Amino acid sequence: MPTYRANAIVLKENDCLKDDRLFNIYTKEKGKIQIRITGGKKIKNKLAAHVQPFFEIDMLIAKGRSCDRVAGARSAVNFSGIRNDLCKTAAACCLQEVVDKLCKIQVPDDRIYSLLFNYLKLIEDSRLKSWELEKLISFFSLKILGFLGYRPWFEICVYCQKKVFGDKVYLLPAKGGIGCSRCVKDNDKHVTVNKKTAEILGLAYLENTDNLLRLKIEKNQSEEISSVAKKFLEYQLEKPLLSFEFFRTCL
Ligand SMILES: [Zn+2]
Repeated sequence: MPTYRANAIVLKENDCLKDDRLFNIYTKEKGKIQIRITGGKKIKNKLAAHVQPFFEIDMLIAKGRSCDRVAGARSAVNFSGIRNDLCKTAAACCLQEVVDKLCKIQVPDDRIYSLLFNYLKLIEDSRLKSWELEKLISFFSLKILGFLGYRPWFEICVYCQKKVFGDKVYLLPAKGGIGCSRCVKDNDKHVTVNKKTAEILGLAYLENTDNLLRLKIEKNQSEEISSVAKKFLEYQLEKPLLSFEFFRTCL
């Protein structure tokens, strides 16, 4: 049976009726794929011990007819600092859920793999307060939306393409951006946010993560940024993000 090597990060474990374990993983080489560990539920299974969340795993995968199987696995990077902290674990689960739900099977994108790896590392090393981790989740989510072609526009009104004046802007998830008071229609589903928040959201696409983390963002603004990022994500997904709810319970 042909095999291939892959650098992988676990996104989610799926239910499996037999003794096997079934995972969604994101790989550098093939993007999101589903893999099976034969007999993975048995305590003595050595492969299952290496296929865990919050590791980068060097995997040998055997091609299968319906699902590829893990033939070998070795932990390459251990994000143990995430596992030892409930709030960091909850934040990292948000990243995994965003990638799992937004990415289609077998569409490789190096940028997504690197972003996931780098943000897991950032969360692990972070000395940020719990509520500040929310910024990381928001910036990560917006960057992923951008990579996948769902970038919301925060710089100009989606209708008239002009700069939006005033302290408040209308956020229009269904239109993929913001609107000005002159253009927003009565039947547009919208949320009002501070203009400063919209400006920071726009920077999420233009600036690298180091610069984003240097921005001075107050707690209430961070909450508003998070709520906007979540609205755009949930609009694309058409379902709620469960990890985001869990993360908020840790604050
Ligand atoms: Zn307008």
